[in-house]
Amino acid sequence: VKEEGRNSYRFFTPEMQAHSSRMLALGNALKQALPRGELYLEYQPQVSLHDDCIIGAEALLRWNHPQWGMVSPAEFIPLAEANGLIVPIGEWVLQTALRQLRAWLDSGLPMMTMAVNLSAVQFGQPGLTDMVSQLLQQTGVPPEGLELELTEAVAMKTPEVAAQKMQELSQRGIRLSIDDFGTGYSSLSYLKRFHINQLKIDQSFVRDIGTDPDDQAIATAIVQIAHSLGMTTIAEGVETAEQLDYLRAQGCDQVQGYHFSRPLPPDHFEAFVRTNLQA
Ligand code: C2E
Ligand code: CA
Ligand code: CA
Ligand code: CA
Repeated sequence: VKEEGRNSYRFFTPEMQAHSSRMLALGNALKQALPRGELYLEYQPQVSLHDDCIIGAEALLRWNHPQWGMVSPAEFIPLAEANGLIVPIGEWVLQTALRQLRAWLDSGLPMMTMAVNLSAVQFGQPGLTDMVSQLLQQTGVPPEGLELELTEAVAMKTPEVAAQKMQELSQRGIRLSIDDFGTGYSSLSYLKRFHINQLKIDQSFVRDIGTDPDDQAIATAIVQIAHSLGMTTIAEGVETAEQLDYLRAQGCDQVQGYHFSRPLPPDHFEAFVRTNLQA
């Protein structure tokens, strides 16, 4: 429906009709997705540029629907946020990801951080800090093993409440990362007030490193801001050696992307780590 964007009059076209019935159907089916076991997680390796070791994983949610097949999280997460399902689903994601990290540590993998995406709706839940703490206790994962990825929208919606919550979480040792950094409309002033450990350079700035000097400049600036405020940086969507070389030369701390690995099912992730340990 993007074509209608510039018109001031809006018509309910057949395409819009089809779009909204799909959304309706997806939203309904999503209610059954968790109990029916249609949701699962994949894990994408995060690599340190200081020693080229795998130092973490980002948990990414997947939905395999019996009729429609794979539905993209970019499509169903906004629906889950709109109807509140993101709260139970998000809790399941946290629990599953922490249990997975526990299992990997028990099977001898080195300590890693598990990065979990948290939507603004989840962040706004009153009992969030206690819920997360409880899951950490249940799974025996040290708080430093969990990194919550928050977007700028989370930080900006209610800055005072957000600052308070971030402080609670970081006081318990949980790490916080700002996802898609630079793509929102926020002021930079929140960075010094919030307890943030890491800025995540969005893939839209990484994609054209090598062809677009503006994107290069933005990536460089983010690394500099982060470092001067005592934070680290991770770049996502790294697909080429050229992007990797540039980010490394700028002092970017970590990278993640298809150049190293796509998001993997748990057994493939474990094999990937073991192979790279021996190399
Ligand atoms: P995101 O957090 O910005 O995640 C990065 C996306 O880029 C992921 O898409 C990942 O699979 C993809 N990606 C990773 N490396 C590359 C690369 O080298 N090139 C390209 N082109 N793409 C790459 P995915 O898995 O489809 O997730 C889309 C979005 O859905 C995520 O964006 C995140 O905002 C949301 N999401 C995924 N899982 C969860 C979840 O458990 N909870 C919440 N609240 N949101 C989630
Ligand atoms: Ca993320
Ligand atoms: Ca991201
Ligand atoms: Ca992103």
